[in-house]
Amino acid sequence: MTIQTVMVIGAGQMGSGIAQVYAQAGFNVVLNDMKQEFLERGLGVISKNLTRDVEKGRKTEDDKLAILERISLSLALRDAANADIIIEAAVENMDIKQSIFKQLDDIAPAHAILATNTSSLPITEIAAVTKRPAQVIGMHFMNPVPVMKLVEIIRGLATTDEVYKAVEHMTRKLDKTPVEVNDFPGFVSNRILLPMINEAIYTLYEGVASKEAIDDVMKLGMNHPMGPLTLADFIGLDTCLSIMEILHEGLGDSKYRPCPLLRKYVAAGWLGKKSGRGFYVYE
Ligand code: NAD
Repeated sequence: MTIQTVMVIGAGQMGSGIAQVYAQAGFNVVLNDMKQEFLERGLGVISKNLTRDVEKGRKTEDDKLAILERISLSLALRDAANADIIIEAAVENMDIKQSIFKQLDDIAPAHAILATNTSSLPITEIAAVTKRPAQVIGMHFMNPVPVMKLVEIIRGLATTDEVYKAVEHMTRKLDKTPVEVNDFPGFVSNRILLPMINEAIYTLYEGVASKEAIDDVMKLGMNHPMGPLTLADFIGLDTCLSIMEILHEGLGDSKYRPCPLLRKYVAAGWLGKKSGRGFYVYE
């Protein structure tokens, strides 16, 4: 299975990073979103990342231009008609993802693989709305995508070995490390990470310590590169809440109940770094 053209749905934090790493690895990339301004914001982030690489001597100006030239912008899902793989990185919402996958199934060529970058939603349930569940797979990139090496590759119930192997091989071409995981709520990464973040939020909520103190304990005491509350701001508090709800519902254990303070922040629109305010305030 030859993969040359990649479509990325969603030009947000994750989608723009995914588009960048594919273009860097020589793939043709079609970056799709719902509005021109979202596409331009995503492309702006990619361009800024590449400029930083040029300034640090990691790339030349010619490399940067060649990478940007490999990315085209799209406002219509019908552009999936020429893609070998489509990676969906829209918001963490099952109805939206299923609606996108239903449309992609009608538009994409028969050989195309449909992948989702979901953090926690069941791959099998997304695949079930298509007529090609054998070609549906999870590709869970980590944030920030250009920097982080891991991609969790999640098999749905029907995903074939051939599709898994093609995706694993392609992931190595991106200079990333694929790790195989089965389809259970939160997979491995968020099954372990998010309860820790949620517990850090409870620790703040119950007044055990200040936000800075909680982050310092985990940074200095556990050697984490970033404290859990800072990390939550980077992930996006809306995404954190969605994942906790999926763990809670999917595993049916009260230990996964989202902290009320997390719900309150999301309700207030304090979504973390992307909205300028979360546990911390961002310029
Ligand atoms: P984001 O809010 O930054 O970006 C989402 C983008 O998708 C937005 O630009 C939005 O306009 C676009 N979008 C929404 N509906 C769309 C549609 N129907 N068609 C096309 N575009 C659409 O979110 P994000 O942080 O990039 O997260 C995207 C996905 O990646 C989610 O499923 C999330 O769970 C997952 N993820 C996030 C992280 C993280 O740390 N933020 C890490 C791994 C995976």
